[in-house]
Amino acid sequence: MKNNLPLPLIRKILERDSFKCQKCGFEDPSGENLEVHHINPKIFNGLNESSNLSTLCSICHKYAPDSEKEFKKYLSEKIDSKLLDTFRKSDYSISKKTKLGMDTAFKKGRHITKAPKGYKLLNKQLIKHDEESAKVKNIFEEFLNSNISLTQLAKKYNLTTSGLIKLLKNTTYLGKVKFANHESDGQHEPIIDKQLFEQVQNKLSV
Ligand SMILES: [Zn+2]
Repeated sequence: MKNNLPLPLIRKILERDSFKCQKCGFEDPSGENLEVHHINPKIFNGLNESSNLSTLCSICHKYAPDSEKEFKKYLSEKIDSKLLDTFRKSDYSISKKTKLGMDTAFKKGRHITKAPKGYKLLNKQLIKHDEESAKVKNIFEEFLNSNISLTQLAKKYNLTTSGLIKLLKNTTYLGKVKFANHESDGQHEPIIDKQLFEQVQNKLSV
């Protein structure tokens, strides 16, 4: 814990957040591997107030964006803490080495978030799920080629409307991987080709 927050406040935030990283769910009752993060950073006059503080593990803390708006987005992109364990176990969790390891894994296209619809996770790799990936492709094509509304289409595939929009915008289907704000080519098989994906983005933005 390297910030200058008063200990009772740190304790209070950790207890409020049940000693859990608010992004990946990593739990550490000792608090040693957790950080109390300023949502709006101190350099931008972020306050030492509960509402501006959030518990993160050292890895999620390392990658956290320094703006309030981006932070909300960052938290909403959930990561399975188990998939971060490789990084957590290596040496000091926030050493340069770990950051380097993470960047390398990321650049190699190892996918470290949860598997989206159409894929399953096997040994930290995204594997195409035959039946589900066909469904994903149908959703893209149906959205593009018919006049069905987003709400109706979502219902048809048992999704929420926002879930459907998220799916249609998910670049994982193009073979990309994303961690925090970085995007790179993954090692997994794409489900949607570039042309279809772009046409869908165009229709979505109308
Ligand atoms: Zn975390």
